[in-house]
Amino acid sequence: MSFQQQLIKWYDIHKRDLPWRSTQDPYRIWLSEVILQQTRVNQGLPYYNRFVETYPTVRDLAAAPQEDVLKLWQGLGYYSRARNLHAAAQQVVEMGGIFPDSYKDLLKLKGVGDYTAAAIASFAFHEAVPVVDGNVYRVLSRIYGISTAINVTAGVKEFKNLAIRLMDHNQPHVYNQAIMEFGAMQCVPRNPDCTVCPFKDDCMAYKDQRIEELPVKIKKTKAKNLHHHYIVLQTPQDKTLLQERPQSGIWAGLFEFPFIESDGALLSVEFRDKLQEQEWWSGFRFRESVYNQDPIIHKLSHRKIHAYFWIVEIDQEIEEGITIQQAFQKPLHILMHRFMSSFWNSYL
Ligand code: SF4
Repeated sequence: MSFQQQLIKWYDIHKRDLPWRSTQDPYRIWLSEVILQQTRVNQGLPYYNRFVETYPTVRDLAAAPQEDVLKLWQGLGYYSRARNLHAAAQQVVEMGGIFPDSYKDLLKLKGVGDYTAAAIASFAFHEAVPVVDGNVYRVLSRIYGISTAINVTAGVKEFKNLAIRLMDHNQPHVYNQAIMEFGAMQCVPRNPDCTVCPFKDDCMAYKDQRIEELPVKIKKTKAKNLHHHYIVLQTPQDKTLLQERPQSGIWAGLFEFPFIESDGALLSVEFRDKLQEQEWWSGFRFRESVYNQDPIIHKLSHRKIHAYFWIVEIDQEIEEGITIQQAFQKPLHILMHRFMSSFWNSYL
């Protein structure tokens, strides 16, 4: 039996029943693929269902305000995915509302890279293009014993060429689903149960006991430490203040408390001095107390945020103040949402 046949046989027995597998609608397939990038299926599934329910067609998504789309995305992280999703939906509508039906044309959509274009083209239109995601890298590197790093150009090329060679041209959609599912369910990153694997007799990594070593990934530079002191403003009428982040960079367009940066933890008196350096604070009398002495650590791909929340009570109302309920309606980044949910849990 060929590699492809063995793989598809395994898939027929073990595949999970997931809603995006029973549709050929490119819009829904695209939604699922974008949601599942850097997200586990269990976490992504409720988001997929909510998106499909709220925006059943690409036209519905395109017509929605960006703030609503970001709000629905809240908690998934990597918000550029949501912004690109929204922008690409508008592109599709501008093209007459018909989804591009080839790998080449799908690549023209905002945020759609090689992987997503291949997934939509093969799952929705049965085009014979290979998908190469983290699962596929792992399966191929182990079975073929390839030590080239998967995050360098040479590795990307080598794995892509191998994936093209292995492609099942008669049923590319099933083959692609099968190899991804095999990586997700059988050839898992840690301690796969090789004794039940259909490839155990041919798998190089199993033969040479190199399973934990493969695939090889070159370590990236160390994350930069940032210390953010968030100002949780409270007015006499229980209002607070949020600001929108710039439209580029991390958490672009999302809302958070204003903050000041420092090189580390601050004493109350140092925090107060830093606030008073800012002109905005000159007219206010305020009382501050730190909510968490130890920082809440939030890791991003290249940064590590050490977050301190300072409760700052002022003695007058401010024009820009919003109620706590209104604050919860804003698209918040995950760090903000977590803090606000525990601090103001009675308002949820
Ligand atoms: S034998 Fe083990 S390492 Fe090799 S493909 Fe199967 S599960 Fe993966």
